[in-house]
Amino acid sequence: MDSQSIATAAYIVAALLFILSLAGLSRHETASQGVLFGIAGMTIALVATFGVVADLADGTDVALLLVALVIGAAIGLWRAKVVEMTGMPELIALLHSFVGLAAVLVGWNGYLEHQSFGLQSLEDIHNAEVFVGVFIGAVTFTGSIVAFLKLSARIKSNPLVLPGKNYINLGALVAFALLTTWFVIDPSIWLLAAVTVVALALGWHLVASIGGGDMPVVVSMLNSYSGWAAAASGFLLNNDALIVTGALVGSSGAYLSYIMCQAMNRSFISVIAGGFGIEAGPADDTDYGDHREITADDTADLLKNATSVIITPGYGMAVAQAQYPVADLVRKLRDRGIDVKFGIHPVAGRLPGHMNVLLAEAKVPYDIVLEMDEINDDFKDTSVVLVIGANDTVNPAATEDPGSPIAGMPVLTVWDAAEVVVFKRSMATGYAGVQNPLFFRDNSQMLFGDAKDRVEDILKSL
Ligand code: NDP
Repeated sequence: MDSQSIATAAYIVAALLFILSLAGLSRHETASQGVLFGIAGMTIALVATFGVVADLADGTDVALLLVALVIGAAIGLWRAKVVEMTGMPELIALLHSFVGLAAVLVGWNGYLEHQSFGLQSLEDIHNAEVFVGVFIGAVTFTGSIVAFLKLSARIKSNPLVLPGKNYINLGALVAFALLTTWFVIDPSIWLLAAVTVVALALGWHLVASIGGGDMPVVVSMLNSYSGWAAAASGFLLNNDALIVTGALVGSSGAYLSYIMCQAMNRSFISVIAGGFGIEAGPADDTDYGDHREITADDTADLLKNATSVIITPGYGMAVAQAQYPVADLVRKLRDRGIDVKFGIHPVAGRLPGHMNVLLAEAKVPYDIVLEMDEINDDFKDTSVVLVIGANDTVNPAATEDPGSPIAGMPVLTVWDAAEVVVFKRSMATGYAGVQNPLFFRDNSQMLFGDAKDRVEDILKSL
C-alpha cells in the first residue's frame, strides 16, 4: 500500500476520534476523555501527514515541515501554559485568526502553483474553490483580530455604527458573488486580489459593528467561520481530514452560536449579519439615586441569620481568583445548616462554562451549582444573595428597560431575594458598559474591594 492510501485511512480514523471528542466534551463527566480522543486524533493526523511528506518529498521539505512543527508546538505549549482563564476567549479569537490566514494563504497558493486539470469544468470548480476559500479565510482573519482587540480591551467594545452599515455588508456579499462569477470565467490575479481586500474589510466591519455584550456569540461564530475556512482549504488540498474536521468545527460552532443567541435572547441572523437591525442606544444619564455600602462583618451577620443563600458569581470572581475562599464559605455556611446554592448565567465570565470550571477547580459539589433557568424562581424565597463580581448578568435593566443595550437578555433575578450583597471594587460598569440599577435598589448593599479579600474577611468574621 502506498503512503497516500495509508494516510487516507489514518485521516478517517482521526475524523472519527474528533467526533468522539466532541461527544465527550458535551458532558462534565466525560470531558477529560473527550480531550484525550481529540489529542489522539490530532496525533494520528499529524503523523500521517508527516509520513506522506517523508515519502513523496525530498529532505529539505521534510526538514522544513519538522521546523514548522517544532516552532508551532513550542509556541502552542507556551501560550497554553501561561494563559489565564480570563484571557482564554481572546486567545481563542487569535487562534481563529491563524486558521483564517492559513486558508487565505492556501487559496493564493492554489492559484499561483496551479497545475492544469485538462478539463475545463474541473478548472472552473478549482477556481471557485480558490475564491470561496480566500473569501471565508479573509473574513475570519480580520473578524477574529477585531474580536481579539475588543476582548483584550485594546479597542473599545462599543458597536461601530457606520451610516448604512447593513448596505455595506450586503454590498460586499453582492460584490463577492459577482467577482466569483467573473473569476470563474476569467481567472485573473487582480480579481483574486480584489476579493481578498473586500473580504478583509467585510470581516473587520462585521465584528466591529457588534457590541461587547454579544461578543461570546461572535467568538463562537468565528469558530464556525474558521471551520468552514479549513474545510475550503481541505477541498483545495484534496485532504479528507481537513474537510471533515473543518465541517465538524463549522457546524458545531454554528450550533453553539445559535444556542447562545437563544440563551441571550439575541437574533441569530442579527449577530451573524454584523448587528443587523440593532440601533445605537441613547447615552444613559439616568439618576438612579444613592447606593448603600456594607462591611464584611455586617455581611457575616446577615449570613449567620440567613436560612437560604444563593451565590451568583461573575467575571470578577475569576479576576480575583476568589473561588477557593468562596468554596470555604459555602462549606462553613452548610455546616451551620444554611441552604447554599450557586446560580450560573450562561454567559457569566468570559467564556461559556467559565464559572463551572472555576467552581469545579475549587471542589464545589456539582449538585448545588444550578443553571439560570433552574434557579430564577428560587430567588423570591431566598434570604441573602451574594453577587460576587457579576454585573451584566444580574442587571434588571435587561428585563425592565427596553432602551437598554442589553434589553431582552435573560438575567438572574437576584433582586427578588430579601437581601442582596454586591461584591465589586467600585461603581464601574461591567463588560457591556451599561450602568446597573440593581446597585441602587432598597434591598441591595455594596461590599467594595477585591472579591477574594472580602470573602476572606467574611470567613474570619464567621
Ligand atoms: P461583568 O463583566 O458584567 O462584570 C464583572 C464585574 O466584576 C465588574 O463590574 C467589576 O467591577 C467586577 N470585578 C472585576 N474585578 C474584580 C475583583 N478583583 N474583585 C471584585 N470585583 C471585580 O461580568 P458578568 O460575569 O456579570 O457578565 C459577563 C459579561 O461578559 C457579559 O456582558 C457577557 O456578555 C460578556 N462576555 C461573556 C463571555 C462568555 O462566553 N461568558 C465572552 C465574552 C464576553 P469593578 O471594576 O467595580 O470591580
